[in-house]
This record gives sequence, C-alpha cells and structure tokens, in this order.
Amino acid sequence: MKIHEFQAKQIFRKYKIPVPDGDVAFDQQKAQQIAQGIGKFPVVVKAQIHAGGRGKGGGVTLANSSKEVSQHASSILGMNLVTHQTGPEGKQVKKILIESGVNIEKELYLSIIPDRETANILVIASEAGGMDIEEVAAQTPEKIIKVFINPLNGILSHHCRQVAFGLNLPASVIKEFSQILTRLYQLFIENDCSLLEINPLVITKEDRVIALDAKMDFDDNALFRHKDILEFRDLEEEDPLDVEASKYNLNYINLDGNIGNMVNGAGLAMAVMDTINLAGAEPANFLDVGGGATAEMVENGFKIILSDNKVKGILINIFGGILRCDILAKGVVEAARKTKINVPLVVRMEGTNVEEGRKILAESGLKLFTAVDMKDAGEKVAKIVVS
Ligand code: GDP
Ligand code: MN
Repeated sequence: MKIHEFQAKQIFRKYKIPVPDGDVAFDQQKAQQIAQGIGKFPVVVKAQIHAGGRGKGGGVTLANSSKEVSQHASSILGMNLVTHQTGPEGKQVKKILIESGVNIEKELYLSIIPDRETANILVIASEAGGMDIEEVAAQTPEKIIKVFINPLNGILSHHCRQVAFGLNLPASVIKEFSQILTRLYQLFIENDCSLLEINPLVITKEDRVIALDAKMDFDDNALFRHKDILEFRDLEEEDPLDVEASKYNLNYINLDGNIGNMVNGAGLAMAVMDTINLAGAEPANFLDVGGGATAEMVENGFKIILSDNKVKGILINIFGGILRCDILAKGVVEAARKTKINVPLVVRMEGTNVEEGRKILAESGLKLFTAVDMKDAGEKVAKIVVS
C-alpha cells in the first residue's frame, strides 16, 4: 500500500527525521492559512498523488507571497497531473502539501528496499539526486552506491559511514546523516515497509540534512499489524477495480490486456498469464480466487472481470482441489445469470468433481467453449479475441 508524501512526512516526524514545516490542504483558503502559519516565504506548493515525477510535470512550485500561494494552489488543485509514473492518462490532484522552502546546497538520493536475492535490506544512495535520478542510473551507474545490511544484525555504524563516504558528504554533516539513516532503517523495519525513498534528501546551505520528498510503500500482508498506517489508505488513488476486489478479499490486479482470467492459485494464475501471452494475446488482469474459494467468491471475481470494459474474452482455468469443480461451475452460472455476459468464455477445469462441474456448465445454457488443457485454453481464447 502506498501513502502520500504528507503522510510519510508525519511518520518521519515521529522518528525525528528532519522535514520542512508544513501541512496538507484541500482548498486555497487552507493553503493560505498554512503558509501564514509557516510565516516566511518562499513556501512550496506540492501536488499529492501516489506517483513520482511531479516536479517535471508542473506539480511542484515555489510561491513568494500569500497571493502566489493562492494562485498556485488553485492551479494545482484539480489539475490532471501527467508524469512518467502516472501513464498518459494522468492523475487528478485533490490535495496539496504546503511547506516551508529550503535553501538547497546539494540534492542526494536515498532509498531502502528489501533485496530478495540476498535476503538483506538494501540501501541505495547517490550524490546525484533530484529529478534526473533515472538518467543518472542509466548513464552513470557508478554514481549509484549500494550497501547491504543483514537484518539479523541490523544497521551498524560502519554501514552509515560507508553510505556517507560514498556520497562524498562533508565532514560537518556526517554525524547527522548517520543518525538519520539509522532512524530511517528502524522506521523501515518497524513498519514493514517495502520501499522508502527520499529524493531529494538535501544538504542545506546551513549544513542541515532534510528530507524534501518522501515516498513509502508497505507490505500489504503486514498491514493487519499497523492499524495506524492502514488509516492512511487513500482509495481515490487506487485502481477502482482493485479496490472493489479487495472488498471481496480477492487477489486481483488490473492489467492492460483484454483477456480476463480467473484461476485458483497464484502460481497457476501466473502460468495462465504466460499461456495467454504465448498465444499472442495479453491478460486484462491477475486473479487468484484462492484454494478455498466459495461459489460466492467465484461470482464476485466474475463480476469484477465483467465490469472491466477492456475485457473481450474470459479464460477460466481451475484445478479442482479444495475448490471443487461443481462449486466453480455453480459460481460461474450464478454470476452469468446476474450479469449479462457479452464476451466469449473459455473454461478449462480438471480435478475433484470435474464431471459434475462439466454437467452443470453444459446444462446451464451458457454459450461457452471448453478446453482440454492450458495450451488449448490459451489458444482458444486468444483466437476469439484476435479474430
Ligand atoms: P517529485 O518530482 O515528485 O519527486 O517531487 P519532489 O518533492 O522531489 O520535488 C521536485 C523538486 O522540487 C526537487 O527535486 C527540488 O529540486 C524542488 N523542491 C522541492 N522542495 C523545494 C524547496 O523547498 N526549495 C527549493 N528551492 N526547491 C524545492
Ligand atoms: Mn522526488
């Protein structure tokens, strides 16, 4: 789960990580009030959306007076912000962060992620931080440093020194930087983060180290033990179909293609998406209804797939183990009755009670194609969509 910059900065304050003074606003008036509270100009007006690259897209501006705060607030609020992370359709801005301007001496890049290959916590840093970090990584990868931390030992002072020296930090800020990095590591671990990124982390002309930006992502499977973070969830920023699916406890992710698919088991679902690809088409979603799915969950999964108007064909691939084929068939028929299915349906099922399942489908009067195996299923559904 992603959160907004202003929320991440609230967490930073708890961990004594320096951030500029500021607050979130939903309208011009509140924006001006916050600026007054800050008491000096310039202040920065920043669009709050769950995507980076806002600076380049015109979502971050400096205001030198109360009047300018109001002007920038009015033009950013409601704007459709397009960045390299939003896709061409962009995202509508509904909140802005108003914060104190900072005298930047140098912009650094700093992030923390879990590294799956080494099972370590990885700190990535660069002294060439700021809005062109992607170019730095692509063209001068030697400017990106990586320090691996064994989570069983935690972060130690030599890790901090290694990052600080790699960043060529002036001696005057090394101590403060090391404290900040140590606290960020604690924050990362204690909150089950999957990403913590600060770009830029700045050194000010006054030799302070301040987080000017803050991006955080959390492991969804650990959110049950972080009720405070769950409260930061902003459904308006998430894909509407993903939100709908999460209400039903379905493992669903909306994708770009046009073949809807429903599968039981995440591994089988991945294999089905590959099969669709191999047959020359693209999946419209990932959907694992789970091993112990009920007819009702199958029905809900179906409703979600059908409410995605990209979908031109549906492939159902179920291996009947705990979820029996007759239960699946009932769910499909039930959903088909309630929702008008106007796209072809290819079903492949095998396993427990497969004969009963096939009978239910055959007698349902539904127009569907049956497949004998996965390859056949992928090819059948791709053919329908391509032709
Ligand atoms: P992003 O483009 O979505 O990553 O948004 P950022 O929060 O990183 O802001 C983009 C850029 O705006 C930063 O790299 C800074 O150069 C600039 N910026 C942000 N806050 C301030 C500030 O307080 N003072 C000045 N001078 N520049 C700022
Ligand atoms: Mn940034």
